[in-house]
Amino acid sequence: MNKLKNKLYQFMAGRYGADSLNNALTYLALFLCVVQLFIKNPILSLFILVILIYVNYRMFSKNIVARRIENDKYQRFIKPYQLKWKYRKTHKVFRCKQCQQIIRVPKGKGTIEVTCPKCKAKITKRT
Ligand SMILES: [Zn+2]
Repeated sequence: MNKLKNKLYQFMAGRYGADSLNNALTYLALFLCVVQLFIKNPILSLFILVILIYVNYRMFSKNIVARRIENDKYQRFIKPYQLKWKYRKTHKVFRCKQCQQIIRVPKGKGTIEVTCPKCKAKITKRT
């Protein structure tokens, strides 16, 4: 058992492993597998296969820098949606159109003018 563990460690040394993008893609593939039970579509099957191949390619990749950049891009993309969901009951979350800064304002204040904390741009928003 220990020998197998060592072999696995050796194999994974210098390889990228799991990250949040891979986790999200795995969940997407799982979700599509469930969809596949109801809608039998060869294109969907192919799409699931492509996702899983990509997840494995990323996991075993030795180009760690490139994989980190991909994950950073993914996280930058997904963060406002995560915050929107987290604060959905109390706040409105949006991006500044000039500098992409994520801004959060309390809901139910009517139409307000917000000043971006990063670039000082004025944004009018209904909350
Ligand atoms: Zn801004």
